[in-house]
Amino acid sequence: MIRPAGMGALAALVLVPTASAQTETATPIEIVTPQRVLVVLAHPDDELFMAPAIAALARQGALVTLAYATQGDAGPGVSAYVPGEELADVRLQEAFCAGQELGAPVVISFNRGDGKLGVDAHRKGAAALGLLSDFTTTVPVQNLVLTWGPDGGYGHADHRMVSALTTQIVQAMPAAKRPRLLYVGIPSGTRPDVPEMSGWAETDPALLTETIAYTPADLEAAKAAVQCHVTQFDATARAGMMPLLDATIWQGKVHFRPAF
Ligand SMILES: [Zn+2]
Repeated sequence: MIRPAGMGALAALVLVPTASAQTETATPIEIVTPQRVLVVLAHPDDELFMAPAIAALARQGALVTLAYATQGDAGPGVSAYVPGEELADVRLQEAFCAGQELGAPVVISFNRGDGKLGVDAHRKGAAALGLLSDFTTTVPVQNLVLTWGPDGGYGHADHRMVSALTTQIVQAMPAAKRPRLLYVGIPSGTRPDVPEMSGWAETDPALLTETIAYTPADLEAAKAAVQCHVTQFDATARAGMMPLLDATIWQGKVHFRPAF
């Protein structure tokens, strides 16, 4: 059971698999085995970019939580929804579905507004400052934190901001308590030669010193997770995404760069 400290005060929405799961407590969590892993993301579907690694960690006994800064309320994708609350609700359910498939059934949504994190980020009332507050009680209680790199994958400001804010929290912690922070990355030369990924950043493989290997079963879980995101990808894209990433970028392991 995962019980992020102080969640009630954050007014964040937490989806859990059973009604008995506790989501509100004021008691800080002790870091014990099994390992607690937080995957910090901007939007539902961001988890797909490291999906088999999430499945692998969960399979090995880690308690994996997916934390979304926004609910993707500005991105109808291939659906007929208009931006807004109804879309946000559907996309959060898609994230919950994906989490279930990957073995990460606890999903936190901070609902800070899709596309808002990079706007006036330093000003009072900014979504980014609200998210920083959210992270203050959520990130430090983890053993391992996975998130976007400074590139944000393809440069999305929300992606860059969740990476920066997560890093800001972790870098202020003393070494004895600091969770390991890893940025997901694409080794140079492995980016798929498809128009959809032409704007994605690459990283020198020498810097991607951490990897999370996955099994065929983990990849199958990732394929199932993609199928959850029907608002974002048509059937062809859902069927082809994981095989493509597996054959190019990952080749059996998801690559990460240590933040420190
Ligand atoms: Zn995103």
